[in-house]
Amino acid sequence: MFDLIVRGGRLSDGRQADIGIRGDRIAAIESLPEDAAAGRVIDATGLLVSPPFVDPHFHMDATLSYGTPRINASGTLLEGIALWGELKKIATVDQMIDRALRYCDWAVGQGLLAIRSHVDTCDPDLKGVQALLEVRKAVADRIDLQLVAFPQDGFFRDPAARDQTIRALDMGVDVVGGIPHFERTMEDGAESLRQLCRIAADRGLRVDIHCDETDDPMSRHIETLAAETLRHGLQGRVAGSHLTSMHSMDNYYVSKLLPLIAEAGIAAIPNPLINIVLQGRHDTFPKRRGLTRVKEMLAHGITVGWGQDCVMDPWYSLGTADMLDVAFMGMHVAQMTHPDEMRHCFDMVTAENARIMGLDEFGLRVGARASLVVLDAGDPVEALRLRARRVTVISRGKLVATGPRDRMELSVPGRPDHVIRRR
Ligand SMILES: [Zn+2]
Repeated sequence: MFDLIVRGGRLSDGRQADIGIRGDRIAAIESLPEDAAAGRVIDATGLLVSPPFVDPHFHMDATLSYGTPRINASGTLLEGIALWGELKKIATVDQMIDRALRYCDWAVGQGLLAIRSHVDTCDPDLKGVQALLEVRKAVADRIDLQLVAFPQDGFFRDPAARDQTIRALDMGVDVVGGIPHFERTMEDGAESLRQLCRIAADRGLRVDIHCDETDDPMSRHIETLAAETLRHGLQGRVAGSHLTSMHSMDNYYVSKLLPLIAEAGIAAIPNPLINIVLQGRHDTFPKRRGLTRVKEMLAHGITVGWGQDCVMDPWYSLGTADMLDVAFMGMHVAQMTHPDEMRHCFDMVTAENARIMGLDEFGLRVGARASLVVLDAGDPVEALRLRARRVTVISRGKLVATGPRDRMELSVPGRPDHVIRRR
């Protein structure tokens, strides 16, 4: 007897299988007998069944605040940081909770069931930390929310940031963050990484750094992050987010850098929607894309996941909590158009991101947590092409969202009466 059976879906490797769920666990992935007993049966015939989407880089304290108190007129990272500085002074804890919960509803509807959110620690009252700790509790039955203590105004540049970041970790924030390229000098940036990695090692925590989010090819903090990761034995527990300066770096230097990142077991989290919008703003033409070297890192065995970063906030005016949009943009900007590369782009917003976040119970396998998404697509590449609709979302064995399939009625004489864009 199962609590739930998802019948006849296609797994991402092309196999067709039924998925039997008991409680919050996957109990079977096989061809189940027609008369297998279940509390509920969901027909997924001809539809892709995937593990849930995962976003390893987000800012939930700022999300859905677009236009408050004004918009980012220049569209740059630096005006975004200044604008966020204005907003965080006037935002209340309740407003932040409200916006974050609204965003989490969007996420559930898109099958996005694990999110790593940075939370700004450069605020004497730690309002964002208070808010997101509440939100983490409130959504725990449906979303894995991991929080990163993020000193937005600089670990050293803001004199109170060090103490407040440590206070946030004491309050229960999960991961150590930083922003070395925003410190006043390269040396301050490097020193911030030394201290942040030591804090993480002492506390047994993971590290996720906003690292070299700039077009300056001389911004080389990733090198220090790799060295400190090795010094503290943090391999497999550290992520470098953005790494956009690598786009503009000297090729010889990168040929030395990539093996170092691989040796340190650092994962990379480019954020293609944001990187393509924010980088290259000071260029004339040719205008740099600003995305880091994704294919080259993959070729060196480095784990790379796509992050979303922002939805309707001081840095980005769009976004829908859809990780297929993120992968779609990443695929284009990184020119990952071979079928194997496109499939990998899908994995990057599911399994690879789960690995970066250390989610041990993730995946479609017997014994794993029963969280999955049924998509109106036949395979991962079609899901990317269509940014396919989520037909069913299941979190921890419970049905949490359902939606219609893609179908448009057509009123054109001599043509079919409806359009379906699937192949
Ligand atoms: Zn970010």
